[in-house]
Amino acid sequence: MPDERWETDPQKMAALMLGIPGASVRELRATTDTNDLLIDTESGSVFCPGCGGPVERAGYELQELEPSSAGGKVTRVTWRRPRWRCPSSSCATETFSEQSAAIDAFNEQVSDANRRFPLRPAQSPPSDWRDHLEQ
Ligand SMILES: [Zn+2]
Repeated sequence: MPDERWETDPQKMAALMLGIPGASVRELRATTDTNDLLIDTESGSVFCPGCGGPVERAGYELQELEPSSAGGKVTRVTWRRPRWRCPSSSCATETFSEQSAAIDAFNEQVSDANRRFPLRPAQSPPSDWRDHLEQ
């Protein structure tokens, strides 16, 4: 029996160190003053918020999370946030973005920390992750 207490997937470990359980790091780009990460979250069972019915995938959008700091660099995390579509013709909901309690909690914790210890703004231009939207 493998020991379930320890995460061994390096991409999930990185996200766990960041403080986002259930997420995995898709790519890391280091600049001179930042570490830019693109993360995915695991989608559980997603249902339409309008009718409660099953939904279909409708791609992704990029959402920037609160920047934090680690090791003298600013950590900039972008979430590849899933979009969903309701196929029911009688439902008013067409598409919607996935909700994640882990992402919400991360943003709250980091913005709280940034209020107490303001971040020095990063000079490097943000990473462009748009080429990751399609897969
Ligand atoms: Zn619906």
